[in-house]
Parts: sequence; structure tokens; C-alpha cells
Amino acid sequence: MSLDIVTIPCLSDNYIYLLHDGASGVTALVDAPVSDPVLEALASHRWGLDLILLTHHHEDHIDAADDLRRATGAKLVGAKADAHRLPALDIAVEEGDTVAVGSQTGHVLSVPGHTTGHIAYYFPASKAAFTADSLMVMGCGRLFEGDAIMMWDSLRKLAALPDDTLIYSGHEYTNGNIAFALSLDPDNAELRQRADDAHAARTAHEPTVPAELGLERRTNPFLRAGEAAMKQAVGMPGASDVDVFAEIRARKDRF
Ligand code: ZN
Ligand code: FE
Repeated sequence: MSLDIVTIPCLSDNYIYLLHDGASGVTALVDAPVSDPVLEALASHRWGLDLILLTHHHEDHIDAADDLRRATGAKLVGAKADAHRLPALDIAVEEGDTVAVGSQTGHVLSVPGHTTGHIAYYFPASKAAFTADSLMVMGCGRLFEGDAIMMWDSLRKLAALPDDTLIYSGHEYTNGNIAFALSLDPDNAELRQRADDAHAARTAHEPTVPAELGLERRTNPFLRAGEAAMKQAVGMPGASDVDVFAEIRARKDRF
């Protein structure tokens, strides 16, 4: 059995997620910027909240964590490395640790780059990875604290998960990300199809998240920095993968 996953859009373009294990009735929330939409979603499903899984310390991911803990009794889980700048954690985790959501096991992956303490939660039995601002659908987070080497390693770690893993990222940035991808790779038929699909989804006010990792590997320019075609597209045919990744990231910052 897999987790039931409920996507909650909030703020201007954030996504947070409720993960519910039907076998045990246990529910977790990934990231906590706001409380009202979470409490409403919990009430409509008649679920309690047992765990809050934080990905990183930015306000738009943690601001309501304490309020939600008070309102629901949920335990707060977050990166040990960032404990000093997260709300007081009940459970501090690092790479290699697991978090149980009822019968479902989440694996903690260290994915620094956007921030140095960013973590992701991977639930293999549900084929779901909650990546927030590390790997994003058709993009990746900005390098606010880490460098290109760090983020490239994080992306490679996530890219090594099975093809049919669904990537649940932290923001609705897909259309902008696809416009950038097309600027590098305008003739890619699969990418053009993604542009059409994402545009249709957004026109219908539907999220473009999650996306399958296999499709991401073929169309997300940040995951393709090791490909000869991408190196050619940025005029760096002989460069290392990480240097090409850094160039693609820098171009996106200016796009
Ligand atoms: Zn962030
Ligand atoms: Fe964010």
C-alpha cells in the first residue's frame, strides 16, 4: 500500500504535502509555511497530524511549524545540521536516517546547494521523493548558500533514484523553468510536449507537480549537464559536468 498524498498550494507559489498512511492512520506534513490550509485539509479528511517533516530553514517552509505543532501535537522533524535555525526539533535527522510515517519508511537524503542543510525525504514504497528547493520540476533551487559542486552532487544523488519516482518539489516554477529549458534545447520534441502539458495544467489551475524522475532526466537541463548536447548548447563542449551545471545555473539566474 502507498501513502495517500494531498497537495496543498499556499502562499503565492508554494506546495506542501500531506502524507497519510491508511494502514495506521498516521499523517505527516512536508513543510509548514502556513497553518489554516493545512488544518482545513486535515479536517476535511478527518485526519490528525503526527509529524511535520521540514526540508530547510527558509521562512516559506517553516513559518507555521510551531503553530501547527501546538494545534495538532505533531512532532517536528528536521535536519540536525540546521537545528540552530529551525524551530525546536523533536527529532533531528541526517543522511541515512529514516522516518516512519505509519507503515511507510521515509529515507532522509542530504541535498545541499540551495541551503547547506537542505534535506529530502524519499519513500520508496510510494515511489515519492519530497525535494522542496533542491531538485524542482524542470529546474533546481538557486544556490543561496552552497556552490555548484554541492548542488550537482545533490542532483546526481536524486537522479539515481528509480525512473518512476515522483518528484514533489516546493514551488510552482515549471512554466518558467520550461521556457528556460527551451532556450537551450528548442528542438527537443519531448520538451515541447512538456511545455504544452504544463501550460494546459496551469490554465486549468492545476499543479504541474509531481513529475516522474525519468522524464525529468530527459528534459530538465540541470540534470542533463553531463550530456554532450547540453555542453554544446552552452558552448562548453570539453568542459566537466559540474562546470556545465554551474554555467546552466548562472544562465537561469539571469534568464
Ligand atoms: Zn528555499
Ligand atoms: Fe522555497
